[in-house]
Amino acid sequence: MGFADRLIFSTPTGEEPLTVAREMVADVACPQCGGGVARYPIAYYTGPRIVKKCQQCFHLLELRRPLPEENWPPFRPATRDWAASAAERASVPPRSGKAQDDGGL
Ligand SMILES: [Zn+2]
Repeated sequence: MGFADRLIFSTPTGEEPLTVAREMVADVACPQCGGGVARYPIAYYTGPRIVKKCQQCFHLLELRRPLPEENWPPFRPATRDWAASAAERASVPPRSGKAQDDGGL
């Protein structure tokens, strides 16, 4: 997948259903209920993430940032992976004295 593949795309036709495929994880059982576990992308409050969750009780086994090859989210800004400017870095104390969001997990 090239850099432009995630930036240039055609207009959706609206005929394809909007779904997210849940990939069942083999040889892993839920530690809470023993149910099947699936891995799938989600929209999380701190950004896009990949989760591994039980499909019966929704116990969370894993929550992590998506890898580039996982293509999640499928469309994203060109500057998403760029380094923050000096004014946006967490190492610079805010002038207002308020705590800054860690922006992480
Ligand atoms: Zn479970």
